[in-house]
Amino acid sequence: MQKWFKIVRRRRRRTSSVTKHYIDNKEAARALVHARLEFFNTHYGLIYKRVAIRNQKRCWGSCSALGNLNFSYRLLFIPPELCDYIIVHELCHLKELNHSQRFWDLVGETIPDYKERKRAIQKYDHLSVKDMLVV
Ligand SMILES: [Zn+2]
Repeated sequence: MQKWFKIVRRRRRRTSSVTKHYIDNKEAARALVHARLEFFNTHYGLIYKRVAIRNQKRCWGSCSALGNLNFSYRLLFIPPELCDYIIVHELCHLKELNHSQRFWDLVGETIPDYKERKRAIQKYDHLSVKDMLVV
């Protein structure tokens, strides 16, 4: 168990390239994520532990069973309403670690148009940060 965990972490670290752009924007992304998490959590009142800002390209955010939240620094470069959707999505996973109707109902409490936002974000899924700055 312990060993498997270490292998996964090592592999992740190798694939996430640390770029200057990431270093330059990481703290701004962290401030944004914390502000929006706190804003939406006044509604949900959930408990989360560590919040990490990563240079991940394949995924906007994730939530672990331990209550840790991870977000891509790329959130800084997408429209605010889509950023909010990602943040609420991961926040709601603290209560429902699945994509059941119960989960979506929870998301819908603060993001009633989550279906549209979920669709809209797909446009940004495969764009690099450089591409996003000109979208
Ligand atoms: Zn999810």
